[in-house]
Amino acid sequence: MSKKSHEVKQKREWVSRSEFSEQYRSPAWQKRRLERLDAAGWECGNCGDSESQLHVHHTRYVAGRKVWDYSDEELQVLCEACHSGAHALKERLNEALASIPGFDLGKVVGYALAAAATNRLDCAGNEGVLTLSTNEEVLGAADYFGVDWHEIFEIGAQGERPTARRLIDLRMRNAMACSDPKNAGSQ
Ligand SMILES: [Zn+2]
Ligand SMILES: [Zn+2]
Repeated sequence: MSKKSHEVKQKREWVSRSEFSEQYRSPAWQKRRLERLDAAGWECGNCGDSESQLHVHHTRYVAGRKVWDYSDEELQVLCEACHSGAHALKERLNEALASIPGFDLGKVVGYALAAAATNRLDCAGNEGVLTLSTNEEVLGAADYFGVDWHEIFEIGAQGERPTARRLIDLRMRNAMACSDPKNAGSQ
């Protein structure tokens, strides 16, 4: 019984792996890959290296989605060294996440979402919207901004889309990111 289920599992993995490599050989992936390389100016998005071989790295995989069916943000152009660095970091992150109890994990997610939204923030535009879905995420985001969680709720209430999901318009936090002259103007 247990031997049989083990065989089934192995077979399934093998199928999905061969499907993967088939997708990576397909013209659809080649096209998407070249698009990303062109957009990146044929250099590593992390260190700027243009001499080494470049890879197009998936920041995440979604079950059932074709390898070319990912947004620009999810397909990063990286040199070989930065690519293996990114994968090593992901493994470290998985290790770290596995050691965090669930209730604290929500806070970590909120913290990470706040950091990512801040990086996307365009002082002229509306890219800085942060969506938090649990109380733990609100607590984590509050930690990131160094504010009390009550303040997060207040910001959400003044935003343009204050609904069941707590949306924070980070444009209201211009003191934090937009005072940086590097971020001013642009796009
Ligand atoms: Zn690099
Ligand atoms: Zn990768």
